[in-house]
Amino acid sequence: MKICLLGSTGSVGSHFLEVIRENNKSGSQHSIKTLAAATNINKLWEQAKEFQPNKLLTADQRGADRLSQLVSSQDSSYSIDERGLLMGEEGMQQAIEDVDVDCVVNALSGTNGLIASILTMKAGKKLLLANKESLVAGGSVLNKLSASSNSEIIPLDSEHNAIIRCLPQTYKLGDSIYKHGVKKLWLTASGGPFLNKTKQEIATASVEDACKHPTWAMGNKISIDSATMMNKGLEIIESCHLFSINQEDVGVIVHPQSLVHCMVEYNDGSIISQLSKPDMRITIHQALNYPEYVSLPFQELNPLEMGQLDFIKPDLDKFPCLNLAREAQDAGGIIPMVMSVADDHAVAAFLDNRISFGDLDKVIAKVMHRYSDKDNQELTADLAQIKQLTQAITLDSQDIISQI
Ligand code: MG
Repeated sequence: MKICLLGSTGSVGSHFLEVIRENNKSGSQHSIKTLAAATNINKLWEQAKEFQPNKLLTADQRGADRLSQLVSSQDSSYSIDERGLLMGEEGMQQAIEDVDVDCVVNALSGTNGLIASILTMKAGKKLLLANKESLVAGGSVLNKLSASSNSEIIPLDSEHNAIIRCLPQTYKLGDSIYKHGVKKLWLTASGGPFLNKTKQEIATASVEDACKHPTWAMGNKISIDSATMMNKGLEIIESCHLFSINQEDVGVIVHPQSLVHCMVEYNDGSIISQLSKPDMRITIHQALNYPEYVSLPFQELNPLEMGQLDFIKPDLDKFPCLNLAREAQDAGGIIPMVMSVADDHAVAAFLDNRISFGDLDKVIAKVMHRYSDKDNQELTADLAQIKQLTQAITLDSQDIISQI
């Protein structure tokens, strides 16, 4: 595949390049056409020297200036034409629409990733989607665009990627899974770092403790989302859009060992599961090669060494974000987007020590409740509407955060 990788220096982006390196060593012919990063320009440059893309994309002028400095450095083992240096949303659109690209990997963080997903669908390219906020905020829009441009969305999320591997061979991406004998989906959750703490204990938890995920190595935003279990809330909505399933039929179960990644419950009373070590490289490798199974030397799971597997009902009082997500999905329209943008800002404020851990769900709920039924509307693929709305929700979020 010819790939445009957005968010190449983050956790998923870095793992993605590791998987490409291993795939190519074993004979695959994947080439990286664009690498994109917002802040870590030195790491972007190191990646560029290895993968030799013909386009490099940065978010802003500061990044572009730093990149120009590196391009003009004399000892470089990589050169790029000035026209290949892109910046901002216009540059992103150019990179996605490049005729030399057939697959876009969206590993951006937060709801801003929606614009990239929409541009990818409009361009009719395959989308490998790690940015679950895209589907939460704009799932209906993305599904409509995907149907009209005949482009596929393949989830780069371990649970959803596991689910597509547990569906019948007749299943096609975008189908409703009810048509394939499925009754219910179960998303497994590690429970995050606070599974065994009390509500009082976690209310004042530090940033460092909240970022310490017990089983998965991940970026800060998703680590905090895992600690509040909003990550699983986002994944409930992600499931609804990927598999055309109602939120009531997406269950959440805490499984602290993170070895079982999903359970697909069929109408015949059986459940099919996927198990593997909690290693994003396995998810990425499977998504990259879907629907084939291609062998690679990542971590193997030995059933003789798995030991005890636990499955626990989530504590909804301690983790209220799970119900906020269900409430948002039931309300529909722009409310899931309101929730997702509010979560982006609440997490940023927590990471910045402006609010406490116990305030996270309160901020999100308050922002959501500012948007009553009468304000609700359908989201469209109009980027101007999306930006205007994002701006409004951002102001509301900041206002509420300042009152905490
Ligand atoms: Mg996940």
